[in-house]
Amino acid sequence: NAVPADAKNLRVKLVLLGDSGVGKSCIVLRFVRGQFDATSKVTVGASFLSQTIALQDSTTVKFEIWDTAGQERYSALAPLYYRGAGVAVIVYDITSPESFKKAQYWVKELQKHGSPDIVMALVGNKADLHEKREVPTEDGIGLAEKNGMFFIETSAKTADNINQLFEEIGKRLPRPAP
Ligand code: GDP
Ligand code: MG
Repeated sequence: NAVPADAKNLRVKLVLLGDSGVGKSCIVLRFVRGQFDATSKVTVGASFLSQTIALQDSTTVKFEIWDTAGQERYSALAPLYYRGAGVAVIVYDITSPESFKKAQYWVKELQKHGSPDIVMALVGNKADLHEKREVPTEDGIGLAEKNGMFFIETSAKTADNINQLFEEIGKRLPRPAP
């Protein structure tokens, strides 16, 4: 597949949405720095990080990642945060049905107020905690299919599926016209 020369290097704003505590900051730190810090109870991570990946077709994608420092508690601020975002990653915790309900809320919110061509991904995080699982994988698949989203279960702790998440997002980004 020929990729236009000026579409070789994509750049996109990515936001993470979801309940506080589902692991948004840990996903970002795992992806960008390859680290996991189980001791940090409260997010103190940088509010802006970027990471570039190369896809198999040799396109590069620079993700400009906006992480919140707990402002997700104030949903009124959300539109400021996801404005101009090309990617929204909606995260829930597979051990928390409440966080899955919140994910459904975010899907609706973005459909109403997000930019129309935004790429949305649904992420069930903490997949390493399988003995505490309360949200079946099928529920995640169902919600994603209903809304045309990409779905994946991840663990920021073990790194399982973290790189795959960003690669799959990269593949789904609209390519600029040649
Ligand atoms: P945020 O509020 O959504 O940014 O959540 P954080 O990234 O701050 O993570 C909240 C808590 O969940 C922290 O104590 C993390 O150590 C823990 N955590 C995050 N991701 C995982 C994961 O994949 N597995 C497990 N077992 N714990 C995780
Ligand atoms: Mg956080």
